[in-house]
Amino acid sequence: MISEEEARSKILETVRRLPARRLSILQALDRFAAKDYFAQLPLPNFDNSAMDGYAVVASSCALGKKLRVIGEQPAGLDRQLRISIGEAVRIFTGAPMPAGADAIVMQEDVTRDGDEIVVNVDVDLGEFVRRRGCDLGEGQRILAAGDRICPTVLALLASQGFSDVMVGGEVSAAIISTGDELVRLGEKLQPGQIYESNSMLLQGLLQNCGAAVRLMKHCRDDEELLTKALKRAIEHRVVIISGGVSVGERDIVKSALQSLGAKIDIWRVAIKPGKPFLFGHIGECALFGLPGNPVSAFVTFLQFVRPAILKMMSASETDLELRKISARLIVDLTNDGDRPHYIRGKFEDGNFTPVGRQESHALFGLSQSNALLRLAVGESVNQGDIVEVQIWN
Ligand code: AMP
Ligand code: MG
Repeated sequence: MISEEEARSKILETVRRLPARRLSILQALDRFAAKDYFAQLPLPNFDNSAMDGYAVVASSCALGKKLRVIGEQPAGLDRQLRISIGEAVRIFTGAPMPAGADAIVMQEDVTRDGDEIVVNVDVDLGEFVRRRGCDLGEGQRILAAGDRICPTVLALLASQGFSDVMVGGEVSAAIISTGDELVRLGEKLQPGQIYESNSMLLQGLLQNCGAAVRLMKHCRDDEELLTKALKRAIEHRVVIISGGVSVGERDIVKSALQSLGAKIDIWRVAIKPGKPFLFGHIGECALFGLPGNPVSAFVTFLQFVRPAILKMMSASETDLELRKISARLIVDLTNDGDRPHYIRGKFEDGNFTPVGRQESHALFGLSQSNALLRLAVGESVNQGDIVEVQIWN
């Protein structure tokens, strides 16, 4: 049995970044940038009006001053207008500033009378003018390699005229669940049977990471059937096998993988829940054997599978870890076991409260939780302590 840290390093050493690819920005949401991007246009790209109103020369606009309106400047074209002292141009939000104008008076602050306006406010130099480059300068970095591309970054790329973007490779994934006791949705439960639910959990977790789930298959605990299913599954970059890796039971996952020529890099990790976790590889395919108990599958996915997938997709080092947040503990907790323990709980209003039975089968409690508290071996924490919890979503 190896430590959690050793397991994570071994996995991250083994999996590699997939080759980058060019994607339309329409398809790039939640992917990771494969290179740095720099502004090729300043933002704004030209001086323009922040309001519907009148472009004026600020120094000629004392309260009550009359100005002659010499033209109109809409947004979307540049009429190349020019004003002098005593003149104004009717202007709209986003329209280019006429030459000579250095401020905008909102239309609410003037009285219009034919070709004239009376200014009803004091006007400061630069008021309601958006200066070229005040938001973003040309050449400034707008996206760093390894950054996740979120909706606001998509908008920024579009504002720069980028219609495509280089992103990390796509991870295609296969999920194989094992277990004679498991029944597919839609079938009738017989005594002693349960519904197969880990596939749902795992496909959701994989999709949250940005992986594409291309194959889902359930197998009875039969090595021959499993080997057959694995043969197809290993055509993908990542294979997740649920169940059949626990201690004491028939070791079909491990031996099926070995019969296909897989190298088993890790089997059994000091983590609770999730001790039977297995990691191996065959060619470029990463193989993860997760314990069948739903909470164990969940915890080992987040601690070991998620960082591997994110690395393959070119995420930055800091993005491989779950986000950590400080929380005030609501109860006393001690880990008197021999493995680090991930407590499931709810982070809410700055507090962390353990939720449900802290047992590896307890799916309901897991479904009500949104955070994990890691307790090291021998660690005790008390009510009121500030602890760091890991947040998902
Ligand atoms: P195993 O790791 O195969 O020994 O399974 C451990 C526990 O998890 C058993 O109680 C199984 O019935 C349960 N289990 C295994 N696979 C699944 C699954 N795909 N969906 C729901 N429960 C499962
Ligand atoms: Mg099983």
